[in-house]
Amino acid sequence: MIQKVAIVGGTHGNELLGVYLVKKWQEFPELLHRESLECVALISNPAAVAINQRYVDRDLNRCFATNDLANQNLTSYEDQRAKEIAMQLGPKEQPLADVILDLHTTTSNMGISLLPSSKHPFNLRLAAYLHSLYPDIKICFGLQHGQNAPMLRSLSPLGYTIEVGPIAQGVLNADLFQQTEQLVHEILNYVDATNQGNPLSEAAVVTVYQAIANVDYPRDAAGELRGMVHPQLQFQDYEPLHPGQPMFLTFTGEEILYAGEAVVYPVFINEAAYYEKQIAIVLTEKQQIDLEKE
Ligand SMILES: [Zn+2]
Repeated sequence: MIQKVAIVGGTHGNELLGVYLVKKWQEFPELLHRESLECVALISNPAAVAINQRYVDRDLNRCFATNDLANQNLTSYEDQRAKEIAMQLGPKEQPLADVILDLHTTTSNMGISLLPSSKHPFNLRLAAYLHSLYPDIKICFGLQHGQNAPMLRSLSPLGYTIEVGPIAQGVLNADLFQQTEQLVHEILNYVDATNQGNPLSEAAVVTVYQAIANVDYPRDAAGELRGMVHPQLQFQDYEPLHPGQPMFLTFTGEEILYAGEAVVYPVFINEAAYYEKQIAIVLTEKQQIDLEKE
């Protein structure tokens, strides 16, 4: 039985879609009302929202590793917020919020992507249900998944990062705002129906993308950028990248090719916030999961 759902926005203060959706739901909480569950809407990083920046001291969505939450020496603004949020929604072993929806935007062309905390059967069934409603939705498992991950979603095994894009930082997009709002309502309907013993029908097989590696930009020995995402790869998130296809273009016009041996499906291509993390592209593998066998 899922008793409590937390909807979180503003984990990154300049990702406005989640900020304004959560503020709307705080103003009109009746919109989240469902018979069988309690919903809370929460702005996770209010100080970053106030200055329209990703974070104040450090990335809040990397502050939820179990060891960091327990470390009283970590006292940055975001480390303190993470501890407060973990008190409110966690702890990881037995979270107060059974389901967590953490709303993000990306500058990459990822459409609406659901990144679950784990491959828990509930998550796969929910993914299959959403996929049957919205054939374009993508289900993606990060390199760091499971509850040891440092993301806010890891407070619950039924936690999800919802990434929506492409949207520039500090900008709203009406179509994507409404699509995300509708998606959250469909998730609440699914949870409510499951609670009431009337599970909504799902597809038998779900396609997921599993992250396998991060790729950095070309850089010189001092770490200075030497190139950019190749124009043929820009905005091609979730499209197949074949061995020998171009990934980067250097400032002097030289192409750098994908040297792997298998077809991969890049995501977070040229994400603005990942330059500082030295990630240009996240490579994923496409997998089919048969729910009958789970
Ligand atoms: Zn974000």
